[in-house]
This record gives sequence, C-alpha cells and structure tokens, in this order.
Amino acid sequence: MNQSDIMFDYKHIWHPYSSMTNPLPCYSVISAKGVYLKLNNGKKIIDGMSSWWSAIHGYNHPILNKALKKQIKKMSHVMFGSITHPAAVALARKLIDLTPKELDCVFFSDSGSVAIEVAMKMLIQYWYSLGQRRKFFLTIRHGYHGDTFAAMSISDPKNSIHKIYNNFLPKHFFSDPPMSSFHDKWNENDLISFQEIIEKNSLKIAGVILEPIVQGVGGMKFYHPIYLKKIKCLCDYYSIPLIFDEIATGFGRTGKLFAFEHANVVPDILCLGKAITGGTITLAATISSSHIAKTISNSKIGCFMHGPTYMGNPLACAAANANIKILQKNKWKIQVSNIEQQLCKDLLPLINHHNVNNVRILGAIGVVECMRLINIALIQKFFVNNGVWIRPFKKLIYIVPPYIIDTKQLSVLTNSIKKALDNASFFL
Ligand SMILES: *Cc1c(COP(=O)(O)O)cnc(C)c1O
Repeated sequence: MNQSDIMFDYKHIWHPYSSMTNPLPCYSVISAKGVYLKLNNGKKIIDGMSSWWSAIHGYNHPILNKALKKQIKKMSHVMFGSITHPAAVALARKLIDLTPKELDCVFFSDSGSVAIEVAMKMLIQYWYSLGQRRKFFLTIRHGYHGDTFAAMSISDPKNSIHKIYNNFLPKHFFSDPPMSSFHDKWNENDLISFQEIIEKNSLKIAGVILEPIVQGVGGMKFYHPIYLKKIKCLCDYYSIPLIFDEIATGFGRTGKLFAFEHANVVPDILCLGKAITGGTITLAATISSSHIAKTISNSKIGCFMHGPTYMGNPLACAAANANIKILQKNKWKIQVSNIEQQLCKDLLPLINHHNVNNVRILGAIGVVECMRLINIALIQKFFVNNGVWIRPFKKLIYIVPPYIIDTKQLSVLTNSIKKALDNASFFL
C-alpha cells in the first residue's frame, strides 16, 4: 500500500463514525500477528483494542486459521433455509452448553446490531402470539446496542443522536442509569427511576434490554451487580422478558464467561457477537429460552420472520467453534485475571493525575476517564509513535487487550497512557 492508496481511501472510503471531508487520519495495517499490528512502514505496534473487543486470542492464530482453511475446502457458504451443516450444529451445541440451561434456541445472524434486531423482533412476535400488541422496550440511558434502526432506538438518545432520525425512530422508555459502580456500595435509590417506569407502563412494555454490568460505548461504566438482580426481579414480577446484550462482554472479557454471571441472573434472550469468532469473521447469535421460542412457534403465524442470506455461515461457525476451543484450552480465566491485576497495579495510581477524573478496571478492561475531551488525532499519533494502538473516544482512554498479551507488552500499553496524560496538548 502506497501513498496514493492512502489518498484514495481519504477521498472515497467511509470509515466508522467519520466524516468524508474531514476524517481522522487512517493508519494502514498490512498484517497482524499475536498482539502486533504491522503498519505500512514496517513498524509493529501493540494492539490495545482487540479490534473492538473481538480478537481475544490475538491475530493470525494458527488454530483459527486452520479451522477456516479446513472449512473452506468443504464449503465457504451454503444457504441455511431447509439446509443445515456440521459447523452450525457444533456451534449451537457449544453455545447452549456454555450458557445457562434456560437458554436453548439459537438464531445465527451476521452482526451484533442484527442480533439485537432479532431479539427485539422475537419479543414483539412473542407478545403478538399471546394476543397482545406490545411495541415498547425499556432500557437505561448511556447504553449502546448497535447502529441499525431498532438497535439505535434503544441506544443512548444523545450518543446516537436520535434527533437526526426523529420520525424514523420508535420512541422507547429510558430510565436513569445506575450510579452505584461495580466496586461501590449498593445504593437502593438507583432503582427508583427504572421501577417507576416499569410500574406505570408494565402492560405496554414488550421487553427490557440492557448491557449487563458494563455499559460500553455509552461511557465505559461498570455498574453494581445488585442493580441487575433487582431488574431481573422486577421483570419477573411484571412477566416482562429480559434481553441481555453481551456482544461486547461475552467470552470472558469481564472476568466471568458472561458478565451476567457477576449478578447470578439469567436473561430470557442473550445476544452474542464480537469475540464469538475470535476477531476473524463476522457472526452473531441470539439465544432465547424455549418458552419464548415455543410461544412464537405455536401461534397462528408460527414462523419467526427473519432470515439473513448469510445466516449460519459455515466459515464463521467454524471459526467460532475453534475460538471457543482455544478459549477453554488457554485458561482464559487466568489470562483475564492476570491482566486485571496488572491493570490495577499500573493504572489505578493514575487517579491522582491532574488530567484524570476516574480510573476503572474490570477483568481485561482498563478505563482512564480524563477531565477533558481528548484530541483523538493527536493522541493517536503519539500512541502509534510509542508503539501502541489505542483509540480513545470523548474523555475516555480505554484498553481491551487480547487475552494473550504478556506482562511486558501490557506495560508498554499502560506506560504509553501514563505518558500521554502528561501532554497538555492532547486535552481540549
Ligand atoms: C458492538 C456492539 C453492538 C453492535 O455490534 P455490531 O457487530 O457492530 O453490529 C451491540 N451491542 C454492544 C454492546 C456492542 O458493543
């Protein structure tokens, strides 16, 4: 890739959440291996993002590659309508095995946002099957569930700029987010807003949807497990199904295989994505209880009306099967716990830094919340020069490194964050 390719990209290609006329600079990556991204100029940098929470075992993993190659020799894809194949069956078996026993019907789709759409459609159809027309969802502010319309409609109204899409977006119920953070003392008042809304509107609400414990893009906040427990009790009391969006947190990131295990509660529908294929290829899953699935299926309509062209893609399923195998073999729990300990040691002391407002660690997630908005282009250039890949947003510098990262490599990441904080020009 040469300079003219980069110029072409600049002029003709949209990147995530960016402008076509004034985009952030893009770095050209030509290959990746383990925790390293190799840039155009030959420089290798340590990845602190796992390509947005997905490449948990690092890049170019021989076992993942082998699984993909083995599958490609059989078939890359085959339609899933009236056809099944061994990779999908093996993966559904594994997912049902890994998740609580209540969750036992799997719907495969191609991205996290679609997994959310599917979960929401399931609940609307669930109520329809019961003779009720419920179309409202209840969630908490500062959430993020994806960029398609229904997913956006339940994401934080400010972050996803609902006002632009005013007449297109359905209006749902948003409660105040909990204030008690994961390690704080639980404050019962956190529940008031949610409780009021659910009490008043329980007969209108088709489902409650939340990111359990970790609110990701909406602010990288970790809330108290008791909040989740109480929400579950309220949902049970009003017989409203509960959807957990574990697209970011699933597969060990928070120190538990699924974040909801911190609170010991089980949802009626679980959405998985991102790390499911170890960062190799896009895939998502919506796993529901058989109660939901049977209610939909035993109704007059009988079918669930969704079916992506690439549903259950064999390559993606093969990668996911291999990913779960590596997860178990690699002892993810020890990997994540080691990362957590080092993040605590390296990052928690930064709380006293004059540019830092808060530092939060949970599992293999490290968050440094700064006092002021960050100049992303400048700080990113600094990070790359320091040999690391970190992509902050708003006031947040955060890392979600691959689980295979070693102590030294992780120190390079945390030291770069430390150094960056001393540079006043990075803060607006
Ligand atoms: C990334 C993400 C999504 C959307 O997934 P895509 O694959 O980007 O569509 C949904 N929910 C959460 C919590 C996410 O982090």
